[in-house]
Amino acid sequence: MFGHTYKKERVVILGSGWAGYGFARTLDPNKFERVMISPRSYFVFTPLLAGTAVGTLEFRATLESVRRLDLDHFHQGWADDIDFNRKVIRVEANVSDDLASKAKQITSRTSSSSNSPSSGSKQGEFFDVPYDKLVIACGSYSQTFGIDGVREHAFFLRDVGDARKIRLKVLQLFEKAALPTTSDEERNKLLHFAIVGGGPTGIEFAAELHDLIRDDLSKLYPGLMEFVAVTVYDVAPKVLPMFDQSLATYAMNHFKREGIHVKTQHHLTRIRPDEDCEGCMKLNIKEYGDEEVNAGIVVWSTGLMQNPLIEKVSGKVFGCPPIAGGESLSGQIKLQRDPKTGSILTDHHLRVNVVPEETPVEKDNDFPHPSAMSDVYAIGDCAALPDQVLPATAQVASQKAVYLAKGFNKGSVGEKEFKFKNWGSMTYLGNWKAIHQSSADDLKGWTAWVLWRTAYLTKSMSIRNKIMVPIYWCITWLFGRDISRF
Ligand SMILES: Cc1cc2nc3c(=O)[nH]c(=O)nc-3n(C[C@H](O)[C@H](O)[C@H](O)COP(=O)(O)OP(=O)(O)OC[C@H]3O[C@@H](n4cnc5c(N)ncnc54)[C@H](O)[C@@H]3O)c2cc1C
Repeated sequence: MFGHTYKKERVVILGSGWAGYGFARTLDPNKFERVMISPRSYFVFTPLLAGTAVGTLEFRATLESVRRLDLDHFHQGWADDIDFNRKVIRVEANVSDDLASKAKQITSRTSSSSNSPSSGSKQGEFFDVPYDKLVIACGSYSQTFGIDGVREHAFFLRDVGDARKIRLKVLQLFEKAALPTTSDEERNKLLHFAIVGGGPTGIEFAAELHDLIRDDLSKLYPGLMEFVAVTVYDVAPKVLPMFDQSLATYAMNHFKREGIHVKTQHHLTRIRPDEDCEGCMKLNIKEYGDEEVNAGIVVWSTGLMQNPLIEKVSGKVFGCPPIAGGESLSGQIKLQRDPKTGSILTDHHLRVNVVPEETPVEKDNDFPHPSAMSDVYAIGDCAALPDQVLPATAQVASQKAVYLAKGFNKGSVGEKEFKFKNWGSMTYLGNWKAIHQSSADDLKGWTAWVLWRTAYLTKSMSIRNKIMVPIYWCITWLFGRDISRF
């Protein structure tokens, strides 16, 4: 009708990671008002973070600004709480300029009234954001298992600020070791690089670090090479558990040849600063008894824990809002959670499931007929399907994001179920070698490395970064890595 002002439905997206960013860029702006809430105003291409941490790539080549999505609104803040009945999100503005992952700053949930990881640091102001449809895509945090000293002294690799801190620290360690006032004993301590966690992230970081040392630092600090050691510790009997034994063995043999130590079935129990060597750490490892291991840096990559927002909203009990699938529930309800990972469970259309309040958490998964809420969806690392274990990967997050946004665009949510297409797993092993496994084939060595780089290039988000990434790779190949400290 002429003169009619058509009001678009407001879709609020929590998070600017693989799931949130991927969803927002696919959602049709002509059909929906797109509002994003995230503590950071950019998307990070996580598979390339390990490379940026050692200067193979420039930090900016792994980032995409969410402002370029031309959203209706972007609020830099933490979703602190959700009222599913009133359809309102409580947001705390993020006033911190620290771009590192907030794993270090999460104190005990009971010690803070706010769930936001900024608790304990500067608190932002709170405000409310209403939604018509809500997409929860706030990801997960690094798991530390409450091990003494990890939060305070280990380095994490989840965000671009983390990569920058690691790069600085590695170069700082070499400069300190090169001082004439440093003893050989201290050099041994400073130049032991400990990586905890033998999953793809830990292994790729070890490989990238080894490349940096072998290709670049060995030329600049030739006298220090005899003191350098890189060790990966893992509690499991085997690293890279998602790969077949033959590929995992290939990776381990490659590491052995390159001089990277892999210690499986090793349980780290404590990290503390070494009072006799400034900037060094002492690690307790159960298998070594009272004998401590010295290290200059500990990079922690052992797994995931739930985002505090998910902890908070899934602990809430509320009256049943409109239901989209399954039976309407009477009385009080709560979100259905995966008892193992704590993720929110959704149905196969990615709508958030609810169950009666009295269902014990450990039985959540077995609840026979959960109902799915209208207008509330969860995707990415914070979400799971009740009867299908999918890995917490960018692949799953981005496929769910695109499936859901297309469903919104076509108005077909609830029609066709989400089906994950496994494109295979890849890990870089250093020295131009990688492994790749998929249902079609297994690849290892240089060919897998070519596939690894090509895959990242084609998945790299903007045209700008599709150009920047290979340019930086070429610069590194020709002139070496960027080892400036800033
Ligand atoms: C170093 C590294 C390498 C990896 N390599 C690979 C790989 O090679 N292949 C692969 O498939 N996967 C890889 N992954 C895993 C992959 O990055 C994750 O599975 C993926 O990021 C999950 O996407 P997500 O959107 O759920 O979470 P994230 O990408 O973590 O995004 C979560 C977003 O939510 C925001 N947020 C957090 N709390 C709140 C809140 N309270 N309110 C609003 N927003 C919030 C965060 O700031 C962030 O923007 C890697 C991960 C890392 C860390």
